[in-house]
Amino acid sequence: MGTYFHPGCICCRSCSFPLTEHEISMSGNYPYHRSYFKELTHPKCEVCHQFIPTNRAGLAVHRCSRFWSQKYCLSHELDKTAYCCSCRRLESWNARYISLGDGRSLCLECLESAVMDTGDCQLLYHSIRDYYEGMNMRIDQQIPMFLVERQVLNEAIVEEKHGNRRLPENRGVCLSEVQRITSIVKRPKIEGHRLVGMRTQRQKLIRNSEVIAILVLFGFPRLLTGSILAHELMHSWLRLKGYRNIKREVEEGICEVLSYMWLESEVMSGLRSRPSSSTASSSSSSSSSSHYSSSSKKGGNSSTEKKLGEFFMYQIVNSPSKIYGDGFRAANVAVNKYGLRRTLDHIHMTGSFPI
Ligand SMILES: [Zn+2]
Ligand SMILES: [Zn+2]
Ligand SMILES: [Zn+2]
Repeated sequence: MGTYFHPGCICCRSCSFPLTEHEISMSGNYPYHRSYFKELTHPKCEVCHQFIPTNRAGLAVHRCSRFWSQKYCLSHELDKTAYCCSCRRLESWNARYISLGDGRSLCLECLESAVMDTGDCQLLYHSIRDYYEGMNMRIDQQIPMFLVERQVLNEAIVEEKHGNRRLPENRGVCLSEVQRITSIVKRPKIEGHRLVGMRTQRQKLIRNSEVIAILVLFGFPRLLTGSILAHELMHSWLRLKGYRNIKREVEEGICEVLSYMWLESEVMSGLRSRPSSSTASSSSSSSSSSHYSSSSKKGGNSSTEKKLGEFFMYQIVNSPSKIYGDGFRAANVAVNKYGLRRTLDHIHMTGSFPI
């Protein structure tokens, strides 16, 4: 305002070439060519990498995910753009996701620490049993744990007594009834953008107590797999310790609390207990043919993994589900007020949370 200049004396901050009067746009105190100005101020879609379409008022209308701040055109919610089954980010047109072959897709960041077969998951499973022991909640019984495909998990859940409570997205289950399952014994290889060569095995389960086995969906990153295991182990603990007639939101709520606490302990520890992976790439743009690491021992880049852990915690805290979300929030209030042990004792006696 009130400032005069000779055209040609002022240069664009972006390309350094002189500007004429007609092509100047200001951003902050700096002059730019109009085209660069648009680059700076008009949001680009992180899926198709085009400028996000504007409405009649000239405003860019887009979606922005709350946790990841991923900006994208509204149209991608309807055009079958894939999303990662773990972190929920939409697939970008220049970074193809891996298809897990059951309708799920996995982004390359989540793939870096993905747990793909039952053997791969054992170390993680034992570390979570140790975590329970460290909390004075030792689980004496050896409960077999298997990684399974989506269809196997869904069928097992239907076969269990709670089959009618089927959720659209089951990720794990603690079995008390099912006698046979098919587990993944050999991890698949990545070929192009899909998985090939997975080996499965039919397994007979022996019922000698309240809890027969724990099943978890294959292919999730280490921290998500661990949080599901922590949740299912809490179901096991409750059953083995004789907790009966607990309201569903109370049981799921306290299981979510244990899941959250384990995630928090992993994220807070800076994931330092594990050696860094030699195969994990430090960049999210690694090619799809990169090897994913053996995740029970190694993880991806630790800052990437930490951010993922924070996302899984965010999901638990903000879940809109009446059973899981409200259950967690009520359980968390009780645990913060009375501590875990007293809250559990109260649930044992009354079937509900202390108020
Ligand atoms: Zn777009
Ligand atoms: Zn992901
Ligand atoms: Zn549950």
